Amino acid sequence: MTAKLLTFVDVAQTRPSKRKAEIRREDFEEIFDDFTQARAGEQASRCSQCGVPFCQVHCPLQNNIPDWLKLTAEGRLEEAYELSAATNTFPEICGRICPQDRLCEGNCVIEKGFESVTIGAVERYITETAFQNGWVSGPQPVREHAQSIGIVGGGPAGLAAADMLRRHGYKVDVYDRHDRIGGLLIYGIPGFKLEKEVVERRTKLLAASGIVFHTSTEIGRDISFADLKERHDAVLVATGVYEGRDIKAPGVGLDGVVPALDYLIASNRMSLGDDVPAFDSGALDASGKNIVVIGGGDTAMDCVRTAVRQGAKAITCLYRRDRTNMPGSQREVSYAMEEGVRFEFLSAPEAFLGDGHVEAVRAVKMRLGEPDSSGRLTPQIVPGSEYRIEADLVLKALGFDPEPLAQNFDVPDLAMTRWGTVKTTMLTGATNLEGVYAAGDIVRGASLVVWAIRDGRDAAEAMHKELQAKADISMKAAS
Ligand code: FAD
Ligand code: SF4
Ligand code: SF4
Repeated sequence: MTAKLLTFVDVAQTRPSKRKAEIRREDFEEIFDDFTQARAGEQASRCSQCGVPFCQVHCPLQNNIPDWLKLTAEGRLEEAYELSAATNTFPEICGRICPQDRLCEGNCVIEKGFESVTIGAVERYITETAFQNGWVSGPQPVREHAQSIGIVGGGPAGLAAADMLRRHGYKVDVYDRHDRIGGLLIYGIPGFKLEKEVVERRTKLLAASGIVFHTSTEIGRDISFADLKERHDAVLVATGVYEGRDIKAPGVGLDGVVPALDYLIASNRMSLGDDVPAFDSGALDASGKNIVVIGGGDTAMDCVRTAVRQGAKAITCLYRRDRTNMPGSQREVSYAMEEGVRFEFLSAPEAFLGDGHVEAVRAVKMRLGEPDSSGRLTPQIVPGSEYRIEADLVLKALGFDPEPLAQNFDVPDLAMTRWGTVKTTMLTGATNLEGVYAAGDIVRGASLVVWAIRDGRDAAEAMHKELQAKADISMKAAS
């Protein structure tokens, strides 16, 4: 079947239907439906099949977007899936939660004037169709190797590497200190962006392929890093970044001023049906409360939108710059606004007020001054602009730094950057220690799922090459 392409002049951009704000406020289910086949084909046909596809250039995985859009427009969905899965380990996840407005779609050349091709929604549609038709399988090694790999961290970086290494036929063991595999895909990102079943469906396929998951196992506590290195021929560190940045302001130690991730983990655990004492006691439950969230990134948006769903009385997001300077996805901000969140732009907390437990935030207004060394305009306090916001629960969402990894793992020789991330060689993830690689947020600092996948895949390829080279040397020595 041939399909008409370049239809963007006649066919308007359409996204999958979005549930109404008043309905989606009531639950933690994803807010978008899937495309129908007709709509996916129609939207894919808008692509102008650029000779130099900027969408692909700006996708961290360099996905072959124009080709799988063409195949989708032609109704050749199994081939579209195979092509999309060739470069992306978790296309159904990226299709849902990549900030496409800053990556592929934001760089689609028809964006100016005609609105971009809805690449993420088509990628999700292709993969969901593949799951429904049984075209998706876990890694299937052609031959087994005796060598084994230990991966610390079962987030997207560790899982992408595990998938590639298992495909090559290695024995793969993934260790995670959490009781479930998935990292921030399970315990950080809320269900209204990424339903938990979508992640679990993948991890089941990985487990069925022979990858062994050791949950509730913390390296550096339950198993030493030295022992881990002894057990395996190579090790990948993919531990993410978890040290929430704090605020230096009077009253920050009051009860009810809590790190964003504690709050999100509790909420995600509730969605998964766990017992969560900190939620049951009310400490991490927003229901009926005045909530103030400090920060303007993805974590802050997840907090405000979680508080909406828990039935908070009022939710205010304080961000010290203006809307155009927000670091996260603009789409997420607009969804939060639709759901009733109040944004105080150009505002920052000056003090937390209360006696034992927080009762209010004293905030100040800011204006944007001269650019700093990174080019971002520096927020400056407007004198005399103090005001009060009632608050029963304050969530600090100011970003994350790495935990002291070299110390926790007792590997003082591991080279680190001055930001506390692991120093690696570009495109291989190799550290300065032989046989030790690193990938994902622990290398980049807090980043994106799609970059974690990219790093995990790159590191896996580099580990494979090193192990093959070692195997060749020992074969030559034996002959
Ligand atoms: P992680 O996902 O953090 O996984 C690391 C794993 O290592 C964890 O499971 C942890 O338990 C484990 N671990 C750590 N130390 C040890 C140890 N010593 N022993 C054993 N296990 C250990 N990105 C997007 O692209 N889109 C989004 O919408 C988005 N939303 C986000 C929302 C929130 C609230 C947060 C916090 C992040 C969000 N991100 C988003 C960023 C994204 O989740 C991360 O960039 C990505 O998960 C990093 O992957 P990773 O594998 O490096 O680390
Ligand atoms: Fe776009 Fe992300 Fe998919 Fe790449 S992986 S095509 S950036 S949605
Ligand atoms: Fe198609 Fe847009 Fe990519 Fe060009 S930039 S190939 S129009 S999706």
